[in-house]
Amino acid sequence: MSNCDNCASSSNCNKKDKGCNKIESKYGNFKKIIGIISGKGGVGKSTVTGIIAVKLAKAGYKVGVLDGDITGPSMPRILGISNKRNLIVQKEGSEEVKFIPAETEFGIKVMSLNLMIESEDQPVIWRGPVINNVLNQMYVDAEWGDLDYLLIDMPPGTGDVALTVMQGIPLDGMVIVSTPQDMVSMIVKKVVVMAQKLKVNILGVVENMSYIKCEKCGEKIRVFSKKSAEEQAKYLNLPLLSEMPIDLELVENLENGTAEKYIYDNKDYDELMSKVCK
Ligand code: ADP
Repeated sequence: MSNCDNCASSSNCNKKDKGCNKIESKYGNFKKIIGIISGKGGVGKSTVTGIIAVKLAKAGYKVGVLDGDITGPSMPRILGISNKRNLIVQKEGSEEVKFIPAETEFGIKVMSLNLMIESEDQPVIWRGPVINNVLNQMYVDAEWGDLDYLLIDMPPGTGDVALTVMQGIPLDGMVIVSTPQDMVSMIVKKVVVMAQKLKVNILGVVENMSYIKCEKCGEKIRVFSKKSAEEQAKYLNLPLLSEMPIDLELVENLENGTAEKYIYDNKDYDELMSKVCK
């Protein structure tokens, strides 16, 4: 459903399909903007964002990632660019600033607060309105250029910043990430209901850490819930985009800063990208 469906002026509006209250990027053109969200932190939302980004880049798309999880930004680590920086350029004699996204080995453009502060272990002790402004600025003032996909790693839950993204940024769709024990919880349901109320299209749900694969026989062992991922997704009335294993090799690569290459080469994660792109 379009954001404009309920608007009385939609027939003669020149911002059709973007929504008249949406903010615009000054230096970016995006064919699709997709938000990745979860009910709570720690379920793998940023990891899933990284996987989708790398697989899209591998498929030849131009991709950007906006790390909107301002108080827990982890995209630079996942994409192996913690040592890079988002440069801030100011025109002489003007207050206007422009941010330059950092680029990963495979050409993914990344904006993250962790690439702007001196050291990544410094906490961000800001209140909601300031965080909202930072997120908006990373969207509006960054030199994204022409991208096929902008992925936004959203903060977990239904708080202020998630509301800002859903209302202010012209999202084409949203991916919900959950773990088996949370799939049927009210925490995830709240995110679903919020998206529906704000008329944001939900592409589907990713069940992360669904199972471990037996190294000897390859059997999938569901550690957290006996119910299948399909059953869990059915409860939410959403398509299942992927069920992802607990992947210790991924964790090791995340720790070593080599996850981008690992994801690029690992065919197990191909399915997710193809469903998100559909
Ligand atoms: P969120 O963005 O939801 O807070 P993260 O993506 O940062 O979550 O992941 C939280 C932790 O779980 C990280 O340490 C990450 O390495 C780990 N993790 C995420 N997905 C998996 C997975 N499929 N297998 C093993 N560990 C994972």
